[in-house]
Amino acid sequence: MKICPRCQKTYSDDNLNFCLEDGSVLTQAAAEPPPTMINQAMPTQQQQTMPSQPSSTAVEHGPAAVFDAAAGQEI
Ligand SMILES: [Zn+2]
Repeated sequence: MKICPRCQKTYSDDNLNFCLEDGSVLTQAAAEPPPTMINQAMPTQQQQTMPSQPSSTAVEHGPAAVFDAAAGQEI
């Protein structure tokens, strides 16, 4: 949304660069932040839903998986 600094007229069309009333250069109005991003505490209970299985399956992949992991870290 843009706003005219002269007549305070707001335009929802961001493609507009000049006020249609007085020709003043429109300025980008302060966009309201998404309400979902404000102080939304992360639920700590989600961590408890993670399966606490031991990484025994990773061992079955053999040295190839280890090699790839090591190579990726070196880069
Ligand atoms: Zn204006």
